[in-house]
Amino acid sequence: MVLEKKQIASFPWGHERRFNAYSNYFRALYGARLQKVSIDAGFTCPNRDGSKALGGCTYCNNDAFNPSYCQPVKSVSEQISEGIKFHKWRYNEAVSYLAYFQAYSNTYASIEKLKLLYEEALNYPGVTGLIIGTRPDCIDNEKLDYLRELSARYYIAVEFGIESCYNKTLERINRGHSFEEAVSALLRTAGLGINTGAHFIFGLPGESREEMLNEVQIISGLPLTTIKFHQLQIIRGTVMEQEFKNNPGDFELFTLEDYLDFFIPFLERLNPAIVVERFTGEAPTRYLTGKGWGGKRADQIVKMIEKRMEEQNTWQGKLYRGKE
Ligand code: SF4
Repeated sequence: MVLEKKQIASFPWGHERRFNAYSNYFRALYGARLQKVSIDAGFTCPNRDGSKALGGCTYCNNDAFNPSYCQPVKSVSEQISEGIKFHKWRYNEAVSYLAYFQAYSNTYASIEKLKLLYEEALNYPGVTGLIIGTRPDCIDNEKLDYLRELSARYYIAVEFGIESCYNKTLERINRGHSFEEAVSALLRTAGLGINTGAHFIFGLPGESREEMLNEVQIISGLPLTTIKFHQLQIIRGTVMEQEFKNNPGDFELFTLEDYLDFFIPFLERLNPAIVVERFTGEAPTRYLTGKGWGGKRADQIVKMIEKRMEEQNTWQGKLYRGKE
């Protein structure tokens, strides 16, 4: 059975795509395309500098995700300028930009330093907001109050690396914080009216597929504006690469086909109010250990998932039964 046009238009997010898509969310908010421009402002993270741990999360190699124009030797303005040129060359249609403080933990500094960096970005012509990537244990009330003030004038979102709802997994990958700390950070941020985002990884060692699917009920109850999902990729130069080489049997990496089979039932159970920004991660193949997924880009995988949802006549939240 194929949905009638009338039924499709009744998706709660107000458009005809079968999931609450990030690009459509921004078009609805601003009436035009917004482009994120990544910034590496030279932060580190407490899981690397010794205040929590040394060595970082076992899967982490930030270089694998940093666009080439992001180098902390350049000022925030220089990186934005180069990022805008880069994206204009690729798309030629963005009308305004969000400065994405992406590399490492972008609230891990004094409030004075954060104000200088964030306000340099917000003062750049065409920048209408900030996305700030950080850890749940790197935010405090003073920083949140400041971000709340900014939220009155700009689009502000704090994007937390959460990765798993299971503390046994967070310990295994050396995250250095618990799931409860992540929930607390989300509640405090959302409670002030600041947009919240989160990253989750599927395929982490020690988690069964059933446990991963069961996370959807927990995630659906979190105060999230947006979410990004990633399949585990083993990145060269990480602690996890060595673990993988030593004990490959500990890892059950998703093939692309497996992932499609897993992800659609997950999406069917996900709270339809959460805007989904990513279905998969996309580290360049030169950073990957193993075969990867044949160089498929994230946008190609989105199309595959949308096509499958169409064929199966399903959509985000079709099986969602409300918050527990
Ligand atoms: S993933 Fe984030 S929190 Fe973990 S070590 Fe890397 S920068 Fe730090």
